[in-house]
Amino acid sequence: MTTQTDDGRLRLTILGGYLGSGKTTWLRHQLFEGHFPAAHILVNEAALTPVDDTLLAAQAASMTLLVGGCACCTGKEDLIAALRALCDTRSRQSAKARGSNHIILETSGLADPAAILTAIQSDGVLVHHIRAVQTIVLVDALHAVKQLHSEHLSRAQIEAADRIILTKVDTVTDPTLAAVKSTVKQLNPGAKIEAAAKGLAVCLPNLPEAKAYALPLLSDGTAPILPTRIEIPPDVDWATFSVWLSALLYARGDDLVRVKGVFDTPAGPLLLQAVRKSVQPPERLPTADHDHRNQIVFIGRGYESEDLRNSLAYFRGKSSATI
Ligand SMILES: [Zn+2]
Repeated sequence: MTTQTDDGRLRLTILGGYLGSGKTTWLRHQLFEGHFPAAHILVNEAALTPVDDTLLAAQAASMTLLVGGCACCTGKEDLIAALRALCDTRSRQSAKARGSNHIILETSGLADPAAILTAIQSDGVLVHHIRAVQTIVLVDALHAVKQLHSEHLSRAQIEAADRIILTKVDTVTDPTLAAVKSTVKQLNPGAKIEAAAKGLAVCLPNLPEAKAYALPLLSDGTAPILPTRIEIPPDVDWATFSVWLSALLYARGDDLVRVKGVFDTPAGPLLLQAVRKSVQPPERLPTADHDHRNQIVFIGRGYESEDLRNSLAYFRGKSSATI
């Protein structure tokens, strides 16, 4: 995870989570304990009340505050400008003076991390200078049930995460925590789930088996998402697959929340990841880890695995007919 090859790009970790989920407190403890050493901290506050930031600034090696707009929507331009400035500063520094190449963006509680990823990857400059390595999302164990029942955003945040931290786990009973964990897992089966109490990382207790909360359809018609694994036929090459995937995400990116998998190419296996419409540049994997079957997991709603297979078959038929 942190052993990505250094390709000269700045590495970005997005820290998200609903209002009051404890992002700043958690990050402060993480920095104090020496995680993310020397990272530049970028804090986005949607409203003009930067209260916790003085405490955070004391732990951060360097920090930029973006106040007055949410980085995923109203404050998107400010975020892009701040990231471009960081890239600029870095490119002017000598290799020796550069220090850490890691940026942590603490988003506002109103932000959808997927929208931020898309904004960065659609920027012609940033796409070459910043690599999004991880999205961490905090989920308030005490208030999650209520938020997930009524707020589409709280579901979208969980869906976008690579790593989920259940916070305030000391304030709920084990059966409640177990049900929250199952619900989070159902929304995002691929993410790693951890826990924190009063901002400190703690072990998740051994929890009883619990059913996920039945989340209602929201007024925007959003159904819970489901994972689908499909095996790509061996005669589909990377070029064909990637064009099909781009077309699919373009058409259905709002339903397809995540795509993740390994694809074998003559140059070696590639790790493929997409969040909504934004596809991360594929990363080369060590050959030994891969069994040469191209299995891709699609996480989303509104389609079945058969639909994906048919779409690929149809696309292949069409593209070979036009060649
Ligand atoms: Zn926003």
